[in-house]
Amino acid sequence: NLAGKVAVVTGSNSGIGLGIARELAKAGADVVLNSFTDRDEDHRLAEDLGRETGVSARYIKADMSKGAECRALIEQAGRVDILVNNAGIQHVAAIDEFPVDKWDAIIAINLSSAFHTTAAALPGMRAAGWGRIINIASAHGLTASPFKSAYVAAKHGIVGFTKVTALETAEQPITCNAICPGYVLTPLVEAQIPDQMKTHNMGREDVIRKVMLERQPSREFATVEELGGTAVFLSSDAAAQITGTTISVDGGWTAL
Ligand code: NAD
Repeated sequence: NLAGKVAVVTGSNSGIGLGIARELAKAGADVVLNSFTDRDEDHRLAEDLGRETGVSARYIKADMSKGAECRALIEQAGRVDILVNNAGIQHVAAIDEFPVDKWDAIIAINLSSAFHTTAAALPGMRAAGWGRIINIASAHGLTASPFKSAYVAAKHGIVGFTKVTALETAEQPITCNAICPGYVLTPLVEAQIPDQMKTHNMGREDVIRKVMLERQPSREFATVEELGGTAVFLSSDAAAQITGTTISVDGGWTAL
């Protein structure tokens, strides 16, 4: 039971982040939703989640591509017991054609943001004597695919950062782990389908089964509820000695 804990989930107005925030809220944690958009519907999403689960849910705008805004998010949240670094973007292109601005944005949002939020949240966790940091990496944090250089580099980077965070907090009741999802059907993945259809000259269903789920032996997408459940487990007392490691939720992808 996470009642009384405050969870901040970056990039949580859709997809995996929202799914994780919802499961943490269902487990009793107060939650802070985040994105860079600051639309009425983002605030409404938090209101609805609070109403649905009975916890306090707020929305705080912060652009995870900017270090100062990452740190301001943690400050504005006030107290952070559970930090979920989830915000992430993707771009698919060969290295020699990879747009430099996309490389920089992916490294900033998918990797450096976790450094800034973690640095800002650790003093409070140390003072409170409890903390959970959960980084959403990817199967691409453990293995590679062509045309995803920035993403694979950032995700391998965050797995390394997870280990260092765990070592620096090892003697306190603070843990840091990375969840490595395989393919989860979210807007991020949906957006890759047209590109993959073009690259492989295939229809939608073929791209899904033969390209995307080709490396996911279960041939099923993971769900945001399953990822939320994994985050709840990592936040529980049962996971107190699990730190500095990765948990794959990938239908067997990285077992291949
Ligand atoms: P999504 O596009 O549905 O969600 C991405 C979230 O990040 C959104 O809430 C968006 O608002 C937010 N975001 C993007 N740029 C931001 C910025 N500059 N500042 C603040 N927030 C920003 O994607 P998703 O699939 O839910 O992905 C969430 C995380 O899971 C990412 O880190 C992604 O790499 C990882 N992941 C996804 C899959 C998958 O199959 N969907 C697999 C492995 C890992």
